[in-house]
Amino acid sequence: MGTGGRRTLVTGGAGFLGSHLCDALIRRGDHVVCLDNFHTGTRDNIAPLLAHPRFELLHHDVTVPIDVDVERIFNLACPASPVHYQNDPVQTTRTCVLGAMNMLALAERRRARILQASTSEVYGDPEMHPQHEGYWGRVNPVGLRSCYNEGKRCAETLFFDYHRQHGLEIKVVRIFNTYGPRMYVDDGRVVSNFIVQALRGDDVTLYGDGSQTRSFCHVDDMIAALLAAMDSPAGFTGPVNVGNPAELSMRELAERVIRLSGSTSRVVHLALPPDDPRVRRPDIGLAMQALGWRPAVSLDEGLDKTIRYFRAILNA
Ligand code: NAD
Ligand code: UDP
Repeated sequence: MGTGGRRTLVTGGAGFLGSHLCDALIRRGDHVVCLDNFHTGTRDNIAPLLAHPRFELLHHDVTVPIDVDVERIFNLACPASPVHYQNDPVQTTRTCVLGAMNMLALAERRRARILQASTSEVYGDPEMHPQHEGYWGRVNPVGLRSCYNEGKRCAETLFFDYHRQHGLEIKVVRIFNTYGPRMYVDDGRVVSNFIVQALRGDDVTLYGDGSQTRSFCHVDDMIAALLAAMDSPAGFTGPVNVGNPAELSMRELAERVIRLSGSTSRVVHLALPPDDPRVRRPDIGLAMQALGWRPAVSLDEGLDKTIRYFRAILNA
């Protein structure tokens, strides 16, 4: 690697969020070590960075211990789409829990500051709306989503125990639904599914009656939040919610995607997956106050950019 700049490890760095984060860290002068096992990530996502003198790629699985000379760690390794994390649920729990343990042990050895990409899924199917950080959640421990939800909850526990027991500098960030360029055509998450279906003229697959809600954050806003959280004062640990509080039903999302993409697709209803949260919207008061952060990209603007991205991918 070249000289100058902070040495920063990004696990899951070849994934959707991780690759955007690597881009941003390179832009601001860090040495970036991108660790990934390419479970859902791709080389294409990081292709422009591979020749950069301040970028290094480690093909490695976070469930296996590793020693790297770093000052900061962003722990993002974990499939995030329900389709992908439920595909091999035992491996998902291993990635969440063993991955967190290995990265925390590395942070302790190197006295590095470490950030955990946690999730709104720690709130499960919530009875409190919007969700704020003081809410402990309503999570099914034995359902299809549990490998991810409980894995991420256990990872949060490990982060706070390392903080209390070993004085580690931690940042726990609860990421709410995020979308944008570099999501995969076959990702399975709602925004990419709807856009790809609309652009292909296929049926748009709405699960259940479509009244369930989500709040979508554009990836550029999310990366700004992750950087702000990592740079926050040592005393600030989180957990902190980051996301865009603009909430809408999945039916409204389907209609909006069809309109914005100028599609003639129709909406078809499929079964609602078990334990699908009925509502989700972040209370971002803490992020605004402690990180000086708020999302700037509106849903229409972000969807427009994402539609243009997928149009180019599908035409290629
Ligand atoms: P993604 O699937 O695109 O990226 C995950 C990356 O982790 C991939 O590159 C994958 O290959 C890698 N990975 C998976 N298992 C690994 C392992 N055992 N060892 C090494 N690498 C491994 O997903 P994403 O949307 O970029 O999500 C990144 C992180 O953010 C995840 O931890 C996810 O839980 C969290 N998050 C994302 C969202 C969202 O809406 N995108 C919401 C909440 C939380
Ligand atoms: N969903 C849908 N059609 C799809 C994919 C997802 O209606 O093709 C719904 C899903 O049931 C959920 C919401 O969209 O209510 C968000 O799903 P996603 O998998 O993107 O993320 P989640 O927030 O559930 O983890």
